[in-house]
Amino acid sequence: MMPRPILATIHTTALQHNLARAREQATGAKVWAVVKANAYGHGIERVYESFNSADGFALLDLAEAERLRKLGWAGPVLLLEGIFGPHDLAECERLDVWHTVHCNEQIAWLEQHQATQAHRVFLKMNSGMNRLGFTPVRFAAAWKRLNAIAHVKAHPQGIALATHFANSDGPGGFEAIRAQMEAFNQGTIGLPGERSLANSAATLAHASNHAVKAHWVRPGVMLYGASPHGTKPGAAEWSLKPTMSLNTRVIAVQDVQPGQSIGYGSTYTHPASAGAPLRIGVVACGYADGYPRHAPTHNAALGGAGVPVLVDGVRTRIVGRVSMDMITVDLTPVPKAGVGSEATMWGLSSGGALLPIDEVAEACGTVGYELMCALAPRVPVVVSAA
Ligand SMILES: *Cc1c(COP(=O)(O)O)cnc(C)c1O
Repeated sequence: MMPRPILATIHTTALQHNLARAREQATGAKVWAVVKANAYGHGIERVYESFNSADGFALLDLAEAERLRKLGWAGPVLLLEGIFGPHDLAECERLDVWHTVHCNEQIAWLEQHQATQAHRVFLKMNSGMNRLGFTPVRFAAAWKRLNAIAHVKAHPQGIALATHFANSDGPGGFEAIRAQMEAFNQGTIGLPGERSLANSAATLAHASNHAVKAHWVRPGVMLYGASPHGTKPGAAEWSLKPTMSLNTRVIAVQDVQPGQSIGYGSTYTHPASAGAPLRIGVVACGYADGYPRHAPTHNAALGGAGVPVLVDGVRTRIVGRVSMDMITVDLTPVPKAGVGSEATMWGLSSGGALLPIDEVAEACGTVGYELMCALAPRVPVVVSAA
């Protein structure tokens, strides 16, 4: 049986390289390798060996924490959103997992819990993002209430202090995070304990600032070779290497006559004025593989260039609407291409040509994070050192 030709490749050398880049950016700080969302779609089991020199793994889900323990990880594991209910506390003990505390309900659950061991917690401040955490004025009171819990106070490393930036990935340099830094510094005055603030964007752009770097950085997307800043600056400018490639093949070719349209909704029409047919390749990849259906056929904002794709390593564009199992691509720049030609949806072609995932994401109006996380379970995955 001939398998459908789509294949994702996870590049372990690049994973290791990107972790080393995080260390280099945050020299002296400890590094949480963020592996939530099944390691940003890569698979926790597939990235584990490349990341096992990290100081800890950060994620959201106790089931994912259990997978790390099964792989043999004995070091720190942190739940970035903490527990979702009181019964999770016994699981934290069983798996020896540290947890974020961001609300009074979580503190109450800890107070009422009959603990069998001490709990290491990261107390989270809402320093301006207004998602999780205690506001700066409420922070010290939350700390005191937590520290009064015997099984929290008993932990030799005490309570760590954390916050998260809303705008470390945008333009504006330090100004973009200044207000949150000031809120965090104000709200934590006099409190002991390790501190953690920086995601990938802050690790890349701001970790030369000691207060931002703090004791622990929490890089996620940069470990997977995408830039938190999209294409400006892009992954290559941050010296990050792509860790996921999505390759497939051309399974059919059509010559579309002038005036004819392509695909569902006929969203792309080969101009009637064109002097010759448009040669298109049908590639075995669709939204059921995780490719975004909202990919525009023709993006006026990109000068009509459309969403990029490589065919036999040559850059071209998708035309027509993405369907469940197929995408149509313009073969004009690759006249030799035909059935069996390789199509690189993002990442590296087998010949080593690169299509950055962030460029595909940007053309689709999203971020590299979403594309990698959306890789569908039906796509076969191989792990490669290359
Ligand atoms: C996801 C997450 C990170 C990692 O973010 P990236 O932008 O992928 O580096 C860091 N901290 C917290 C709290 C997160 O939820």
